[in-house]
Amino acid sequence: MKIGRTFRKTLPPATHELLRAIGMLSRDLGYRAYLVGGIVRDLMLGRENVDLDIAIEGDAERLARTFARKTGSRMHSPTRFGTCKLESKAFGTLDIAATRGESYRASGALPNVVPAQIGEDLCRRDFSINAMALSLNPGSYGRLLDPLKGAVDLKPGKLRVLHAHSFEDDPTRMLRGIRFAARYGFTFERGTSLLFGEGVDRAFLKRVSGKRIFTELKLLSREQEAARAFVLLRRHKVLESIDPAFGWSEWKLKHARRLEKAIDVFGESAPTGFLEEWRAWFAVFFAGVGRRKCDRLVAYLNLPKELRKICTWTAVELRRTLPRLERLDSSRAYRVTKLLSDVPPEGLIHLYVAGGRRERNLILTYLNDWMHVRPVLTGGQIVGLGVARGPQVGRIIESILKLKLSGKLLTRADEASYVRRRAGSARES
Ligand code: ATP
Repeated sequence: MKIGRTFRKTLPPATHELLRAIGMLSRDLGYRAYLVGGIVRDLMLGRENVDLDIAIEGDAERLARTFARKTGSRMHSPTRFGTCKLESKAFGTLDIAATRGESYRASGALPNVVPAQIGEDLCRRDFSINAMALSLNPGSYGRLLDPLKGAVDLKPGKLRVLHAHSFEDDPTRMLRGIRFAARYGFTFERGTSLLFGEGVDRAFLKRVSGKRIFTELKLLSREQEAARAFVLLRRHKVLESIDPAFGWSEWKLKHARRLEKAIDVFGESAPTGFLEEWRAWFAVFFAGVGRRKCDRLVAYLNLPKELRKICTWTAVELRRTLPRLERLDSSRAYRVTKLLSDVPPEGLIHLYVAGGRRERNLILTYLNDWMHVRPVLTGGQIVGLGVARGPQVGRIIESILKLKLSGKLLTRADEASYVRRRAGSARES
């Protein structure tokens, strides 16, 4: 079967040129080259995907090095599974790996790999929809290889594992399954659903390192449909099987659902790049869980420093900060600004979600106006106006900020005359 038309139409001509060139090189070296994995699935769904994964029946590293030399692209050293990443301005990135078979010594451990033909390589994959390949060699360019009937599952939107031990071999496939289910609105096929349930009951995911769980949760948080993914995680009780600290209260789930709209609102009010959306989504796992559980999860997932700060804030400080914000109103711009300027942006959005209408409005005013208010005069200029160097300068800067936030000291001249007055009264006293 050829998916010729879709293939031709969906990929830009430059990508075809690139793939044909790989196919020709592969033929010249006596190999076979295939486009594999997610991009084949997305081509068939008519969805954009720019990750080009190439599988080679042959010496992949030799092909990758030759191709890099011919195209003047940069090649990174091969990964532990022999994947060579090529980078070039002309085509972005390209992953080239040898076709391989895998065996698992222990559930949740990384696999042993051996060279294999494409058929076996497709059998080691997670779901049938991810186990299709398109031939790239001349003469069969664009021919679909689908021995596991991925195309049949793609139509009704079914996720089907390739054998009964799939989740046990590699439990991260359970989280990958949730990711694809959320992204495409797919469901698990009956047998797979039973195996998934067994995986949860027997807590397969506990056998995987926290580091790998973190990688998967990060990918989930990057999904457009992250909220849907969280609903599925809860429905299938996936994370609770790792640690009850991951449990979903009604409040937490509602919180996750409201985050989507909040992200849109922040997009309109906050400066560009203020928020890293995936981190805001990731922090949902920690929303309101409290100090003890938070410390446990942070250590287990081995979170990087910045993310640890955001998650800890959302787990612990969110509950403390909200009542403090509730006691303020728009006449207390300085106090609100002081309170909110200490909150990481991805924590602030959780405060917005947790707050009532009044608190939300205060946060929006902070984002639109108050956070941008700064004294025009620098510390050096304040000294130049007669203030002695030392802590006094910082105190004056703070006073200027306070006055500006209450609508006074509108211009630079206002600030300067205020500083002169303070310098004068300091000299007199
Ligand atoms: P995405 O669109 O999210 O990038 P993808 O399917 O391209 O999804 P990758 O992680 O880039 O996912 O992996 C590429 C391919 O490698 C998958 O399509 C699948 O065939 C295979 N694969 C990846 N991870 C696993 C796994 N844990 N077990 C089995 N096969 C896997």
